[in-house]
Amino acid sequence: MSDLKERTKEIQAGPKGRHRTVQVTVGNVKVGGGAPIVVQSMTNTDTADIEGTVKQVAALARAGSEMVRITVDRDEAAAAVPHIREKLDKLGIDVPLIGDFHYIGHKLLADHPACAAALSKYRINPGNVGFKNKRDTQFTDIVEMALKHGKTIRIGANWGSLDQELLTKLMEENAKSPDPIDARAVTREAMVQSALLSAARAEEIGLPKNRMILSAKVSNVQDLIAVYRELAARSDYAIHLGLTEAGMGSKGIVASSAALGILLQDGIGDTIRVSLTPEPGGDRTIEVKVAQEILQTMGFRTFVPLVAACPGCGRTTSTVFQELARDIQAFIRDEMPNWKTRYPGVEELNVAVMGCIVNGPGESKHANIGISLPGTGETPAAPVFVDGQKFRTLRGPTIAADFKALVIDYIDQRYGGAGMKASAVTAAE
Ligand code: SF4
Repeated sequence: MSDLKERTKEIQAGPKGRHRTVQVTVGNVKVGGGAPIVVQSMTNTDTADIEGTVKQVAALARAGSEMVRITVDRDEAAAAVPHIREKLDKLGIDVPLIGDFHYIGHKLLADHPACAAALSKYRINPGNVGFKNKRDTQFTDIVEMALKHGKTIRIGANWGSLDQELLTKLMEENAKSPDPIDARAVTREAMVQSALLSAARAEEIGLPKNRMILSAKVSNVQDLIAVYRELAARSDYAIHLGLTEAGMGSKGIVASSAALGILLQDGIGDTIRVSLTPEPGGDRTIEVKVAQEILQTMGFRTFVPLVAACPGCGRTTSTVFQELARDIQAFIRDEMPNWKTRYPGVEELNVAVMGCIVNGPGESKHANIGISLPGTGETPAAPVFVDGQKFRTLRGPTIAADFKALVIDYIDQRYGGAGMKASAVTAAE
């Protein structure tokens, strides 16, 4: 019996408490220190292309990205940044912009003070901020620029551009050790040290902890989990979490979900980015949707109403239910920007679209509003359930349109200004 109790406790334990970090403000967004986990993304436009970058930042922000990073790689890009900020402000888009700097960040920030002022955060990579005797001065210059403009810095170590001097030093120490560890473990340690040593150096220069966010991105899931666990165990800096070079399509989504899911469950991660490679000319906002869905399906945040749908099987020989599930989810996504202000709380809505009588009525009853479509050989009728009660049965060729109308009615009545509960709907069958 006690064994059963213990197991029940384990099952019910849920996620660990959040790793305690110092809160950082990026523009108008709070990161860490118990704030909701922030979704961010990055453009893939040439930042010097002002119109193209504004358009993509706006699309990412509208999709739900709460911060957007842009590449600042040369003078033309740095010169464009204040214009991008200005145009976004005119469009009413106040999403904070983060500048991504490599190699010459110190120079670009010094030569383009309007760029330094327009950005809310500077991302630097300790592996390429400068080399040999220039490293310290260039790093100091960037930190001083952040101090001067009142900005936050992300110190973002990356496996692909790891500080080679630090790695070599740790490899040599390991080789001389009587009990050497494997080279991969040394590289993980170098990632963690690279981020932490740079953060300590920034603090020495005067940048307080509440103006710094750390990341240590790796493309291998197990390495990423190990590195971030270590980073969190050794510090309380706010943490930017992401799997770098996750890849394309389902591979990238699965790898990111697996890695981020485990770390988020450990309480690690104050802001996340899903680094998906889009198809050529593909939709960049998918990375935002995936990041939101990771957080929402794990129960950390709610962004959009979710549609639960069964996978279908031999009992569903028509595609009606697949089409309906797809249409309803797309419809909800499209409407969300308007609904957010019109229907507060609508993001918590659950809709179910099920393929047949086996799980259909049961699952539909657990949703706010659900439909159980007729499977092959079943009576061509689709019961709709509202707040766990059978509400109406739909029939005929307009089932999809009729169900969509019922979803809209439900949302309007439950989340509309009158705040009326859907159970007040009386038009039962
Ligand atoms: S609910 Fe019905 S159609 Fe859907 S997977 Fe289950 S048995 Fe198949």
